[in-house]
Amino acid sequence: MARINTNYNKLAAGYLFPEIARRTNAFMEQNPGAQVLRLGIGDTTEPIVPAVLKGLSDGVLALGKEESYSGYGPSEGVLPLRQALADLYAERGVSLDPSEIFVSDGAKSDSANIQGIFSQDCVVAVQDPAYPVYVDSNVIFGRTGDAGESGYDGLVYMPCTEQNGFFPELPDRKVDLIYICSPNNPTGAVATKEQLKKFVDYANEHKAVIFFDSAYAAFITDPDLPRSVYEIEGADTCAIEMNSFSKTAGFTGVRLAWTIVPKSLRTEDSEAGKVHALWTRRQNTFFNGASNVVQMGGLAALSEQGREQTDAQVAFYLENASIINEGLISLGITTYGGGNAPYVWLKTPDGVSSWDFFDKLLGECHVVGTPGSGFGPAGEGFFRLSAFGHRENVEKAVQSLKDNLKI
Ligand code: PLP
Repeated sequence: MARINTNYNKLAAGYLFPEIARRTNAFMEQNPGAQVLRLGIGDTTEPIVPAVLKGLSDGVLALGKEESYSGYGPSEGVLPLRQALADLYAERGVSLDPSEIFVSDGAKSDSANIQGIFSQDCVVAVQDPAYPVYVDSNVIFGRTGDAGESGYDGLVYMPCTEQNGFFPELPDRKVDLIYICSPNNPTGAVATKEQLKKFVDYANEHKAVIFFDSAYAAFITDPDLPRSVYEIEGADTCAIEMNSFSKTAGFTGVRLAWTIVPKSLRTEDSEAGKVHALWTRRQNTFFNGASNVVQMGGLAALSEQGREQTDAQVAFYLENASIINEGLISLGITTYGGGNAPYVWLKTPDGVSSWDFFDKLLGECHVVGTPGSGFGPAGEGFFRLSAFGHRENVEKAVQSLKDNLKI
């Protein structure tokens, strides 16, 4: 008799984005002809830049010739790309061996899968609010109890609030796996070196492991803020880092990312090298490598020209964030984020709940955003607006807020 993995039954009803789509579709059915302006999902909108497009098309053309055709490649990615990524880190003073970099098809899948190489009885700590994959993958793996008003039993929530600048205090009990996302989705907050150092020291002291999601690192403009956890001394023994080409190169549909598992990483019950070996084994078993065509695109994105052009695109999205921020501030709304991240995190006016503000924004302004409570209990009373969008749409959305929002 086959039986299902009942941990799936614990998942909070409806993933956040399908619920947003459901409410938006219902609104559009009731208001035919209304133009809905979307600042909800963090999906890129601008075309892939020419230098990267050339890399992708070269990758396609190479498949058409006997001498350059390639089939399965190494599941960890081709060496030139891993080397180019290592060179990128070297610019920030971080020394990595290319074999510590695992190329993949997404930071989402990597951040969901990485917990699977650790023991089921590990205690997990997450920033609250957080990108939902961290929590859901641990729920599915059976590390939590049921969900209640204040989140899942057995999970340690580390509140990110106005009071702590949206970066958490250290956990008040011993935890084993710690998720940190910086620049943060959804709050847009970026951890400082001092803040990360505290977590790195904690992890080394308790033989815990940090999963550091830096998918938005390219949006950091402040040179003093760390783009990688490995800029912090001691991180190589306790941290795994995920990053992605999705938001930098417009690869949300193309799919390319990487995860760094240092060889010096250790756990309570393993010596240096073991976690690296386990992730290698895991990837070799479950994954046949990122697309060879796409890896050529990634390599082009890391070329001098590719970097210039993708940097300009990142700057464009950051300008969108400023436009959104300025519009909200002119309405007297308190905002956070947006300076070093493509997300603006706003405090809902008059203490309205996150979902009520969603309905209000959609009903009054025809603007779709993302309710903060969908990212965790501490997100209640906040709301995320995404800076990914065509300029014209962002300007229209901001104008509509100014003209129509009743506060
Ligand atoms: N990590 C964070 C924090 C994200 O916000 C996202 C996408 O929105 C991802 C990872 C997904 O990255 P990828 O497209 O490489 O799967």
